[in-house]
Amino acid sequence: MVPKVKDIVHAVEKIAPPHLAENWDNCGLQIGDPEEDAGVVFVCLDLDGATIEEALAAGADMVLTHHPLIFSPVKQITADNTPVLYRAIREGLAVYSAHTSYDSVVGGVSDVIADKLGARIDGPLAPAAEQGDGVGIGRLCSFDEPVPRDEFLARVKSVLGLETLRIAGAGKGPVKRIAVCGGSGGSLLQRALNSGVESYITGDLKYSSVREFAGENIIIVDAGHFPTESVALPELAEKLAELLQENGFENRIELSGKEEDPFRYE
Ligand SMILES: [Zn+2]
Repeated sequence: MVPKVKDIVHAVEKIAPPHLAENWDNCGLQIGDPEEDAGVVFVCLDLDGATIEEALAAGADMVLTHHPLIFSPVKQITADNTPVLYRAIREGLAVYSAHTSYDSVVGGVSDVIADKLGARIDGPLAPAAEQGDGVGIGRLCSFDEPVPRDEFLARVKSVLGLETLRIAGAGKGPVKRIAVCGGSGGSLLQRALNSGVESYITGDLKYSSVREFAGENIIIVDAGHFPTESVALPELAEKLAELLQENGFENRIELSGKEEDPFRYE
């Protein structure tokens, strides 16, 4: 049985319940008719000019993104002003975004990074206790044995597929306890420091916020926004495929193979 858009929504919301999203966020179905078929679902971080072409070439009926396609109120939907939104509607693509819902949930973005690093999850970095145990943004984690600084940084690079990391702070390692926040975790720097971890891995850090922590005994790793979130998409696609299969649906989940970090080092 081919799933409908509403069946995909139901499955995604089992993986990333929408009530876990931050208030300012816009998770959920952005475009689409819940009653239409969704035989092919395309998964990517952002729906933009490139990924929409990739999705259409893959025969997608629906796209699951991490970043919301619609964030601020839209006043026109035209080919000039909102080309991706316009195109998606014209092509009949449904779009669902699981953003901070997939950040907060147990098993979400930061859990995937910690898991791949071989660290054990101790709890959320910024708990949302009212939402449930273990839920919240970022994760505090620990290694069974302290990891020397060089080996730790090499492991981060390997897990995130990076050759270079932006490092700040005066931490020398070894590293036993870490904090992880995929995406943009600058606002949790102080919290990470207060928690006594030897390293904090996140992305999108600003000069002004990092500067005040430069002398602190912590290895601050800015691994970039894209790498620290795209690493968690295969897991999302796999979980979705499993859940749909368990419910007797036949469909195809396609993970973007072409989406790239807009930043590069030259
Ligand atoms: Zn993000």
